[in-house]
Amino acid sequence: MYVVHMNTVLISGASIAGPALAYWLHHHGFTPTVVERAPAPRPGGQAVDLRGTAREVAERMGILAEVRAAHTGARGMAFVNAEGKRTSTMASDTMGDSGGVIAELEILRGHLVRILHEATATGVEYVFDDGITSLTETEHGVEATFERGEPRTFDLVIGADGLHSKVRSPAFGPESEFAHDLGAYISTFGTTQREDLDGRQLMHTAPGRTTGIYPTPGGRAKAMFVFASPPVEHDRRDTARQRELIATTFAGDGWEVPRLLDGMRDAPDFYFDRLRQIRMDTWSSGRIALLGDAAFCASPMAGNGTSMALVGAYVLAGELATAPDHRTAFRRYEEEMREYVARCQKFALSGVDSHDAEVADVHPHARFQPARPAAHPGRDEVVRRSPEDLEHGDAEGLRSPELDLQLTPGLTFRAWTWKPPPGCRCTT
Ligand SMILES: Cc1cc2nc3c(=O)[nH]c(=O)nc-3n(C[C@H](O)[C@H](O)[C@H](O)COP(=O)(O)OP(=O)(O)OC[C@H]3O[C@@H](n4cnc5c(N)ncnc54)[C@H](O)[C@@H]3O)c2cc1C
Repeated sequence: MYVVHMNTVLISGASIAGPALAYWLHHHGFTPTVVERAPAPRPGGQAVDLRGTAREVAERMGILAEVRAAHTGARGMAFVNAEGKRTSTMASDTMGDSGGVIAELEILRGHLVRILHEATATGVEYVFDDGITSLTETEHGVEATFERGEPRTFDLVIGADGLHSKVRSPAFGPESEFAHDLGAYISTFGTTQREDLDGRQLMHTAPGRTTGIYPTPGGRAKAMFVFASPPVEHDRRDTARQRELIATTFAGDGWEVPRLLDGMRDAPDFYFDRLRQIRMDTWSSGRIALLGDAAFCASPMAGNGTSMALVGAYVLAGELATAPDHRTAFRRYEEEMREYVARCQKFALSGVDSHDAEVADVHPHARFQPARPAAHPGRDEVVRRSPEDLEHGDAEGLRSPELDLQLTPGLTFRAWTWKPPPGCRCTT
């Protein structure tokens, strides 16, 4: 191992990508420090799917059994009409155990965060309630200053601080240079189950908006609102304004929507963000690199962000452990991840933009239900597929891309191939 010249690694962000990277760096003999803006690991967020290689990574981390034990209980989805009648249903294994809309292995984001933190309780230094204020690269390392802590110098710095990364801006440029707007907002929060969901995620769609509810462990449920909208001016921390925006948008919708809107007003785990992708030509600059949503956010429409973060952490740590220097490691990390990331990002577009040429290229079948003329052509419908399509068994375009990274017990990162699922009319 070539770890003598690069040992200390500062990671910004303690959600999914940060702790996963810290785990593997520690495993390979590095000394990782994770700084997180929040005072503790952040709970909340919707159910996330572990697909394909991410499951293999979880297994290698020794957390797969725990992940399975925390499974949400979701085993399929159904569309409901305004009266709550189920108009079509689909099992989670309709498209293979890992490739469907809901993967066979689905876990609440907050539960995965807890499991990752427990897995890194020893050997990783966590600094909560703090953040990087400046990074100055020198010949021998990166000098970091913090909001609260004393300045420190590290061999490498990794930004795993999400879509709105603060590491990215000074080292690579402002967010606006890399963020691609998908024309919609998403919100999730915890709620109660009124009817027996029977292990199904229920979805109710109307032109330009979708409401969902799905079971979570302990007899609870998660609600989800997704709606097309041009960007609305507001402070990102102004959750009152965000809740109001949702209430106005969904007012008058049927089914469970009024009850969910009521519950949203006080939901402590309320999450709200714009659907955006981060697309960058490079994920490293000198001794600083990016990982997870900070580097390649595909948006929740991909259903793959957490898998990408876990796989990326594994690959990046492995390359750092085996490359002769950080430049080589960062270059190899990008080579390994590029195609996988590109496919996940393209796939996400199939969920939000029927008119995008890129979509037809990836999934010829992935189309919105054009329920009304688009006010913002191509950015107006957030419904992946009409219930009618599903009823007629036209589900193949919904399949998520699955990366099959041939992980061997050693450090073989290079030999991976992307396998289109049987019957999938995807271009490769
Ligand atoms: C609270 C929360 C709820 C989420 N809910 C959903 C959801 O419902 N649906 C969905 O699709 N995705 C959600 N996500 C995003 C999802 O976790 C990611 O898409 C994916 O798992 C990749 O994770 P990541 O670690 O790269 O980024 P993220 O999960 O976004 O984590 C970034 C971390 O960096 C921290 N951070 C941010 N700025 C700084 C800073 N300046 N200094 C230090 N730390 C910083 C954040 O607090 C966070 O812990 C949520 C993320 C968070 C943090």
